[in-house]
Amino acid sequence: MRLSRYFLPVLKEDPAEAEIISHRLMLRAGMIQQLSAGIYNWLPLGWAVLRKVEQIVREEMDRSGAIEILMPTIQPADLWIESGRYNAYGPEMLRIRDRHERAMLYGPTNEENVTDIFRRHVQSYRQLPLNLYHIQWKFRDEVRPRFGVMRGREFLMKDAYSFDLDYEGARRAYDNMFVAYLRTFRRMGLTAIPMQAESGPIGGNMSHEFQILASTGESAVYYDAAFEDIDLAADEVDMERLKSLYAAADEKHDPDACPVPAERLRAGRGIEVGHIFYFGTKYSEPMRATVAGPDGESVPVEMGSYGIGVSRLVGALIEANHDARGIVWPDAVAPFRVGIVNLRHDEPACTRLADDLYGRLRRAGVDVLLDDRDERAGAKFATMELIGLPWQVTIGPRGARAGMIELKRRRDGDMAELGLDAAVERILA
Ligand code: ATP
Ligand code: MG
Repeated sequence: MRLSRYFLPVLKEDPAEAEIISHRLMLRAGMIQQLSAGIYNWLPLGWAVLRKVEQIVREEMDRSGAIEILMPTIQPADLWIESGRYNAYGPEMLRIRDRHERAMLYGPTNEENVTDIFRRHVQSYRQLPLNLYHIQWKFRDEVRPRFGVMRGREFLMKDAYSFDLDYEGARRAYDNMFVAYLRTFRRMGLTAIPMQAESGPIGGNMSHEFQILASTGESAVYYDAAFEDIDLAADEVDMERLKSLYAAADEKHDPDACPVPAERLRAGRGIEVGHIFYFGTKYSEPMRATVAGPDGESVPVEMGSYGIGVSRLVGALIEANHDARGIVWPDAVAPFRVGIVNLRHDEPACTRLADDLYGRLRRAGVDVLLDDRDERAGAKFATMELIGLPWQVTIGPRGARAGMIELKRRRDGDMAELGLDAAVERILA
């Protein structure tokens, strides 16, 4: 992408309304723009990151055996009346009437909807286990939308729903998601700490929240250092060990009773990016989602639900990856892998070299942003630092005449002067 043709409305000043760093940086880097409280436009750079995050979530869900569907954002109230949640849900639910005065709502979550799909098509235990997921916009009329996309009113969520014949099956489905979540966050370069959670309004009795670590996180967490090096590549992850590792929120952590030896105890701050629940037959009973078991008897299906805040993750990733100059994207979610700054677009040697590198990287399948604008060098560098692409290339007249460019790694500032072949090779490595 050529910056002269792109749409990257960066802000020079810190926006006054943003209290936390990720919100500030997302606004300044032209990633998002508020339309109404807690409702955002995703501009090209933000949208590119959101799609990368979404795709990692999707790939790990698919790998876990879950199957993707798409349920609508608007639901009929009838289903929620049937489950008993229509009145219980309260003012967070956006309630709508259509032209026939039928009660509708903008979905805050999809347990009812997916249970309805299930009961219409699944009759036998032979069709189990089943896990259906989708990635869809939700609306919750939060009392205090804040921190940008971290607590929005409209936000993108991945929600998965598991169906099993019995508790044993449901527990396996839960464990399977547990591991898929750890893999998902690790692929984004994040350490996620699973913590036992209260079940809240969705109900149930087995529940974990996944907190990713960032110094600016909302809640203090204490955890066993062993979380940092669990072998998630193994086909059979040791679930017993994993679930027995210590993790506790501030209010639950008791230094005197803590089972973790001091040298292995870590303290950090966490942001909740995922939540998994087992809730048994809470929906399948009232909604009559039953299957015939092996003996032919009809039993309500055992369920769990599993959410990841996809749009919140974009903010959380920045909370965990930034410095004084701007964002520092982990490779896996960077909107572009390389940013090229051509310092002198009026100098043929520079422009030739910039175009040459740009073309070669693109042909190799690398996302590249080429700053070909007629701007001061200082402004170009500031923009590149702000948007935080993993590799920065600077092309200036002196080097260009010798066919050399300067390659810098954003994360640690590591810098090298290289010819094109060597630079391409290093970037592709
Ligand atoms: P919270 O306690 O933060 O309100 P929750 O318990 O209501 O979260 P869930 O219903 O479990 O959240 O939703 C699953 C995931 O969706 C959460 O872990 C979080 O990452 C994300 N999420 C929930 N509410 C919001 C919101 N208002 N804005 C952005 N993401 C959200
Ligand atoms: Mg909530």
